Amino acid sequence: MHTIDQIIEKIRSYNPLVDEKLLRDAYEFAAMAHAGQKRLTGEDYIQHSLATMSNLASLRMDTPTLVAGLLHDVPEDTSYTLEDIRKKFGKEVAKLVEGITKLGTLKYRGLERYAENLRKMFIAMAEDIRIIIIKFADRLNNLQTLSHLRPDKRKRIALETLEIYAPIANRLGMGDMKGNLEDLAFPYAMPKEYTWVVGISQSRLKIEKKYLEKIKKILHKELLENSIPVTSIDVRIKHLYSLYKKILEKERDIDKVYDLIAVRIICKSVADCYRVLGAIHKKWVPLKGRIKDYIAQPKPNGYQSLHTTVFADKGKIVEFQIRDEEMHELAEYGVAAHLRYKEFGAKKMSKEKTEWLKNLLIIQKKIADNNAYLAEVKVDVFQNRIFVFTPKGDVIDLPENATPVDFAYHIHTDIGDKCASAIINDQIAPLSSRLRSGDVVEIKINKNRTVPNEDWLNFVRTNLAKDKIRQSLRQKQEGVISRLLNRE
Ligand code: MN
Repeated sequence: MHTIDQIIEKIRSYNPLVDEKLLRDAYEFAAMAHAGQKRLTGEDYIQHSLATMSNLASLRMDTPTLVAGLLHDVPEDTSYTLEDIRKKFGKEVAKLVEGITKLGTLKYRGLERYAENLRKMFIAMAEDIRIIIIKFADRLNNLQTLSHLRPDKRKRIALETLEIYAPIANRLGMGDMKGNLEDLAFPYAMPKEYTWVVGISQSRLKIEKKYLEKIKKILHKELLENSIPVTSIDVRIKHLYSLYKKILEKERDIDKVYDLIAVRIICKSVADCYRVLGAIHKKWVPLKGRIKDYIAQPKPNGYQSLHTTVFADKGKIVEFQIRDEEMHELAEYGVAAHLRYKEFGAKKMSKEKTEWLKNLLIIQKKIADNNAYLAEVKVDVFQNRIFVFTPKGDVIDLPENATPVDFAYHIHTDIGDKCASAIINDQIAPLSSRLRSGDVVEIKINKNRTVPNEDWLNFVRTNLAKDKIRQSLRQKQEGVISRLLNRE
């Protein structure tokens, strides 16, 4: 059970001057708006709002983000509107909540070839990186309570997490978030594989944990003797889902995975990182080709560390990861680290790091620029557009409430004129159905049909479809008239 007091306490630990009254007002408002609503867990709905806020507090987010986290489901699920939120809590909070509501319309329906398009749309649609971070915080809690959902829903949400959310977290450098999202979704998305990985890793984990505690002590002594100061030496266990993927890469042989458990050393400076590396190599023989300098050459998402794998005591293979404090914060929190509330006197980020942030923030822009349709996505978001897929994975953008007939005319006049039925996400659906973002739409045509149905005019949404239907009907009429005239 979360309480607002407890969360405010947590926020105060990184922001002693936080506007407590504002947070309590937002809580009162959310609790009133959601009053009487229950989650499937049986808890009051407000528990979900608080859990989302608490996740954001763990990421040390700023006050507007925390408030938006509390209110994120209000416009969608209660009688209060975005306008109410704007009046009470201002433009910034309202914009964040609006963004979350919009992203909520994007849904992954389980077909891998659409995943990359969906990821791009997700990033491009979020005007503010904080919106994505609130979605992550929301999703974390939804995953924690997933067992209460219907099995088909469970699976959809779990797969969406693995295919859309986690890769975005990775792209934004949020390693900790990525790992948590994946590990929570893994058992629901792939129960058999999950059980298999847990089964084959348990015994090795037990033995290696003990062994690495010994290695840790030896290293500690070694560093002390060489007077290299470090902040911490920890044993880190690979996240389960990432272990699963690694095992698949290694011909399903867990013994070929060398970093099931690794020793992580956090140093006080970059120079110390290299000194630690030197000390490790003096003590143990490194494996050829396994030394990776991600400090000199960071990964595309900004990750920096030194990795090395050595033959440690008794010839056992051990991986070490060495980084400084700033690199560590970036590896765990990525873009969120830059958005963090900074305490007074916190040291300024180096120029390199702010450069990296700039690069990361233009990811959104780059993605939009590289894709003509995505450039449209950004503009159209404000005009309430939806985005649906053809069976081949192409994206078609339509106005809200568009129907399969609108979709058909959007593809080709002939498909519109001859359309007979629609299949939406593998289910037969009426031609008058309202499409939603992320839907996969297939149109079945009737080759013998020559004219569209006049009734379609009652439900189509786009002017394009209306014009085409009228035009085809008129042509047909003119054809009949001219035939009649010719007969005379
Ligand atoms: Mn929610």
